[in-house]
Amino acid sequence: MAGQVHVVDHPLVQHKLSLMRMKSTSTSAFRNLLGELSMLMAYEVTRDMRTHEVMIETPLTRMSAPMLDGKKIVLVSILRAGTGILDGMLRLIPSARVGHVGLYRDPRTLEAVEYYFKVPKEMAGRDVIIVDPMLATGNSAVAAVDRLRETHPRSIKFVCLLTCPEGLANFHAHHADVPVYTAAIDKELNDHGYIVPGLGDAGDRLYGTK
Ligand code: URA
Repeated sequence: MAGQVHVVDHPLVQHKLSLMRMKSTSTSAFRNLLGELSMLMAYEVTRDMRTHEVMIETPLTRMSAPMLDGKKIVLVSILRAGTGILDGMLRLIPSARVGHVGLYRDPRTLEAVEYYFKVPKEMAGRDVIIVDPMLATGNSAVAAVDRLRETHPRSIKFVCLLTCPEGLANFHAHHADVPVYTAAIDKELNDHGYIVPGLGDAGDRLYGTK
């Protein structure tokens, strides 16, 4: 089964992504853009959330109005760059629960190594949205989904800004049932595991660490 990939091609998303790609974009502008873009991605990834009707009172009358269903969503940030997306998404979904997965890429093997894992206690029945700006080799994304599956959520989705054919193929070879939401699918991965043309190291650009 080929995995689902949703490319969010809204002009605002594409414009903001182009600004983020530019090497002249400052750390503070990059951070703001990531926050704005993440809100737009949150809007897309939650499009199929279910609602139920409740009776409310407006200043004029009573009416039946839709409210979100079920248990709170869990947003899971892959440290550290995922936090940039998390912050933006929380502005749109402020009552979401939050989890963190700490993974670093072994620079030699490009394999994901876990150093931290903390998610809400009751995950069963919840909808999880994993966030990481770059789905590059796909190894971190695969490892994060592997770990989260152990907690038995109702559903898992993956949100990034950029990905590439190699990363998508690897990810969906392991998790064909997890849809990926991205702003673009770039041309390729280079030998160092960077997406090309890409936007560079998302964590460094977000936090000004280079
Ligand atoms: N991680 C990044 O920050 N950038 C890439 O291009 C790939 C992985």
